[in-house]
Amino acid sequence: MQELMVTAPGKLAWIDSPSPHLASPDGAIVRPIASASCDLDRRLIAGATPFKPPFAIGHECVAEVLQTGENVRSVQPGDLICVPWKIACGQCAQCARGLSTACTAVQKYAAYGVPAGGHWGGLFSEEVYVPYADAMLVPLPVGTNPLAVASASDNLTDAWVAASTPIKRHTDARVLVVGGTESLGVLAVQMARAAGASQVDYLDTDDYRRAMAELCGANVEIGAHSTLDERYDVVVAATRDEQALNRGLLGLAPGGHCSCIGIMFEPPRIPLFGMYMRNVTMSVGACNVRPHIPKVLDLVNSKQCDPMLVCPQIVDCDDALQALIQPTAKCIMVRERITTSPQT
Ligand SMILES: [Zn+2]
Ligand SMILES: [Zn+2]
Repeated sequence: MQELMVTAPGKLAWIDSPSPHLASPDGAIVRPIASASCDLDRRLIAGATPFKPPFAIGHECVAEVLQTGENVRSVQPGDLICVPWKIACGQCAQCARGLSTACTAVQKYAAYGVPAGGHWGGLFSEEVYVPYADAMLVPLPVGTNPLAVASASDNLTDAWVAASTPIKRHTDARVLVVGGTESLGVLAVQMARAAGASQVDYLDTDDYRRAMAELCGANVEIGAHSTLDERYDVVVAATRDEQALNRGLLGLAPGGHCSCIGIMFEPPRIPLFGMYMRNVTMSVGACNVRPHIPKVLDLVNSKQCDPMLVCPQIVDCDDALQALIQPTAKCIMVRERITTSPQT
């Protein structure tokens, strides 16, 4: 089978590799059919993270189940399923707490698409091993467009959790989304609206993303340098820019919350005293996506969000190399002609 590998900083290639084998009765072999780039992927490919090549890239996809172990009950060959980015057993004490990102049944940080906690392959590859099929895989409801939910593995669900969790704690929440990565900010605008925010403002220096955020119903007319004046109950910071994060944090009203989902590898300076005086909170961390994926599929299927808006490029396996390296928008690679999830 072919794996899409980062072979050196800035270099991608399809490499022939042995097919994975079904190593456990709880596992499954799946074939990704619609794989999305995560907002982190370009930095991973460029070598701008602590994860150094070579490694197989990709941790967002919808796949077809090819083979299942004898203990697997929830999926069968032929099913279309979402594959979460994180490898997790679903049964250890951390998984039981909802912290699948800290699953103790596998090596620390075990995930697809990064050389961490072992090598689990990447979700652009032709075939992938899933060690805990019942705990991880989420079947697509009938009629689901696989392309639209290819990102439910990570970015789409991350945006939902980051926006909806603090919005639920406020009545008529006023929300600021600070954009800065390819898709997360615009997805967070959509998700904030789906979660019932009364007002969503969007802050970004990028005109293309500002236009997309406006299409999604956000107010994008925020002065580049004006003080945000404690206006917001919830801030979703999908940025890697320290100054933008600081503007967002100081834009929080007393008692507000900032979900920080842009990954910063260097520690930023943050305005702790200003935050202290406002009694605000900030959360940061990789998203424990699995329990939230069914809700996200429902949001897409009921047209409460439109992830295709942030995925303007649909490419095949050959064109994926260029699309993943070019600094444009999020892209989806399709392995074959795709229809919606069939009636079973
Ligand atoms: Zn990701
Ligand atoms: Zn676990």
